[in-house]
Amino acid sequence: MSKRKHKSSSKKLDRAFIRVYRENALREQDFKCVYCYERLNYRTVTADHIKAKSKGGNNGEDNIDAVCSPCNKAKGSMTKSQYGVMISVQPRCLPIEYTLAWIRRRLNLQILRAERNILASVGRYDKRKKHLTKSK
Ligand SMILES: [Zn+2]
Repeated sequence: MSKRKHKSSSKKLDRAFIRVYRENALREQDFKCVYCYERLNYRTVTADHIKAKSKGGNNGEDNIDAVCSPCNKAKGSMTKSQYGVMISVQPRCLPIEYTLAWIRRRLNLQILRAERNILASVGRYDKRKKHLTKSK
């Protein structure tokens, strides 16, 4: 009985830590899904175990990425690079979730590029150094 109680409270603690790591990752990733660059917020973000728990991955901060819910579901227990390849090449005869992730990724990359071009045209983005410049 007491053992069971301990287990459930440690699960609660795990979840609390995962939530913190997920939000840290979200800020580091500039509020975008690490795979498809979909914009995320604290409400829509999900935690992806880079190395799936079913394959021995842990709940540590280094193993948590911020990802959108559709990518998280589609990735399943694939590795980061396996899923990255799945959604980077034009999908042929793949299940619909990979095609959708591929479309989201392409679209979001084009939006990011357009944003950078607009910012560069008003002197707010340095294309050579690839970072935002401070407004004066
Ligand atoms: Zn995504």
